[in-house]
Amino acid sequence: MRYMKVLFLLVSVFAAGNTFAQTVQEPYEVGVWHGFRNAAVSFTFDDGCSNQFAVAIPLFNEFGFRLTLFTLTRTDWAGLPDWTVLNNAAAQGHEVAAHSLSHTTFAGMSEADQMKELSECQNDINSHIPGNQCITFAYPYCALGNKSLVADYYLAARICSGVIEPKTPRDFMAISSIVCGTEGSVKTADHFLSRAGSAIRTNGWCIYLLHGIDNDGGWSPVTSEVLRETCQLFHEQQNDFWVDTFGNVSRYIKERDDVSVAELSADDSTIVVQITDTLSDTLFNHALTFRRPLPAGWIAAVAAQNDSPVVSQIKAINFIPHIQFDAVPDGGDVVISRRSEVRVYEQTFPIPVKPVLTQNFPNPFNPGTTISFELSQSGRVSLTVFDLLGREIKALVDQDLAAGVHSVVFRPENIAGGMYLYRLQGEGFLLQRKMLFLP
Ligand SMILES: [Zn+2]
Repeated sequence: MRYMKVLFLLVSVFAAGNTFAQTVQEPYEVGVWHGFRNAAVSFTFDDGCSNQFAVAIPLFNEFGFRLTLFTLTRTDWAGLPDWTVLNNAAAQGHEVAAHSLSHTTFAGMSEADQMKELSECQNDINSHIPGNQCITFAYPYCALGNKSLVADYYLAARICSGVIEPKTPRDFMAISSIVCGTEGSVKTADHFLSRAGSAIRTNGWCIYLLHGIDNDGGWSPVTSEVLRETCQLFHEQQNDFWVDTFGNVSRYIKERDDVSVAELSADDSTIVVQITDTLSDTLFNHALTFRRPLPAGWIAAVAAQNDSPVVSQIKAINFIPHIQFDAVPDGGDVVISRRSEVRVYEQTFPIPVKPVLTQNFPNPFNPGTTISFELSQSGRVSLTVFDLLGREIKALVDQDLAAGVHSVVFRPENIAGGMYLYRLQGEGFLLQRKMLFLP
């Protein structure tokens, strides 16, 4: 009961806060999507089909992706929810959301019955999963109900009209999804990727609707092979696609469209930034991603919010080094501190599937630049700089390293300006890129 009241209050606060527009002071930018990715992607699973737990959750965990489980709380044919399993899923960051009590269509249902379905399903979930915020809803059979009633309980509600949503959905109470599997238009990993690819062009949000997996008896099944291949493709293109839950993407959008960013002070070593919004902090506590160019003369920096380090990295945007960082609106002032060297970026992402050599930053550069790479397994690795004639300029790394992300700073001495190569070599792979040293 307590949860429901709180949520109702939050939703009212949001409705009132809707008149506030985003105000981001130059030269700051807020990412349309987390990590300044080009599109958001959500995988939503309905009806609690058994392989969603046995197959999809372990698979998504492997790739560091989170999914949404639209749950029926009192339906016999789907099997009553296994709250232990759902609690585990929520603890791993997956979203447990509402799909009604009985899976009865809302079309033609009385308002009193719709309210009962909406409120009691939310109550069931929140009371069985302490700490979980049940904030989104999927209409049974994708049939719209009374949207203003739904908005009293939920931030966002899902239908399935098969289109890509724009970066801010036209109607949060009728967000589209795309039906996958044997009965839908998305059957193969290539189909998954191409629909999400079309979201890139509009900076949009692509939401998939899945039920059965393999032979679990669920409607419109996909195979676990297709699901694995799909995760693999999205993992390989993680710079383009932000894969997260329906609820997290909904919260990101509302915070992003409401956020205010203002620089409070700046000197030669420290910049203080204030990031606020007008939304309720209990519910709207998802980190947004921001960036700004580094001040002239700075080669690197780190960010902290409320005295704790936040995820930050240096990235070259149009050859200009930027600091990109995550911060929660109303989470305390952000302090950007100048550094003389880039630290190894501590990535929460799991071990990459194959080795990656990323473009150095800044590039072009003078006096120094950082080269980062990801190793899929531990082992002996060398990273060497060559000139275009193949002459070795400097061995930067030649040692055993653990799997994960590594960074090293290259500061040339006594070399001419121009193009150079850097080559990462380990057991079974050789990766090479170019960089430009300015005289
Ligand atoms: Zn359903």
